Order: sequence, then structure tokens, then C-alpha cells
Amino acid sequence: MVSTEIGEPVAKVEVDFDLCESNALCEAVAPDVFRIDDDDFLQVDDPSVTDENRSRVEQAVASCPKSALRIVEDE
Ligand code: SF4
Repeated sequence: MVSTEIGEPVAKVEVDFDLCESNALCEAVAPDVFRIDDDDFLQVDDPSVTDENRSRVEQAVASCPKSALRIVEDE
């Protein structure tokens, strides 16, 4: 069933870890979504793209110099 609640996830952000160099540029733009852990690996605790965080996630995707991020729209 499709929910129409405001803030419901409609998409997810995906990381290509083969490309990611953990330089934390995405974390700087959207620290609520992206996090570099103690071992210098990028973590995405919740990949949901919501109305609330979408603009920051889009900025993070655009700021990644390795083109390692993409938003996959829910179908
Ligand atoms: S900006 Fe790109 S390369 Fe840098 S940590 Fe984020 S996903 Fe990885």
C-alpha cells in the first residue's frame, strides 16, 4: 500500500563504495545522512530521501567529486 504521509521516504540514496574515497564532502553537506566512521569509511545509517532532507542529499550528490552517490527514486 502506498502511503501519502508527509515525510514518507520516496527514494533512497545509494553509494558506490568502489568509487567513494571517504573524503567526507557529502557529510559536510548532509551530516544527518552521511557519516565517516572511525575507520574512515562512509556510513549511511538511513538512506531514505525524504521531503525534509532531499535538497541536502541532492547537494551531497552534486558535491561528490567521485560521482559515487545517486538517488534512486521509489517506483
Ligand atoms: S563525497 Fe563522494 S567520495 Fe566523498 S565520502 Fe561522500 S560519497 Fe564518498
